[in-house]
Amino acid sequence: MCSSCNTSTWENKCTQCGLCCHEKAMYGRMLVIDLDSWCEFFDPETKQCTVYAERFTQSNRCKKMTYLRAMFASYIPDSCAYAKWAKANHIRFAPHRMLRFIHSKTCPPDDSDKHLHAAF
Ligand code: SF4
Ligand code: SF4
Repeated sequence: MCSSCNTSTWENKCTQCGLCCHEKAMYGRMLVIDLDSWCEFFDPETKQCTVYAERFTQSNRCKKMTYLRAMFASYIPDSCAYAKWAKANHIRFAPHRMLRFIHSKTCPPDDSDKHLHAAF
């Protein structure tokens, strides 16, 4: 494990794409992320967390990104900087999942996507 990774450099790996702050579900080998629905503390304009310093006390759903989550968490997409870091170090063990974006409010799933809608 990277001995030079202090808390600050670890947190700075985040590219602030905001995808982990959206509603998401795993459906078989697919990770579905709803681009129209997000954590109450997420600002979609800036893609920033509005309670970043207190996020773990403000939100009981917010999960700290740890080495283990980078290695095993299935809810982060392959594009996440932490998943990439783990993969680059050959320690990404979560199964590969296809990423699918949906827009539940502006473009709701049609009949053929009902199973996806039910996952949220
Ligand atoms: S509380 Fe957590 S999940 Fe919510 S916006 Fe902030 S970082 Fe994202
Ligand atoms: S998905 Fe990864 S890179 Fe994107 S905001 Fe979340 S932790 Fe940061």
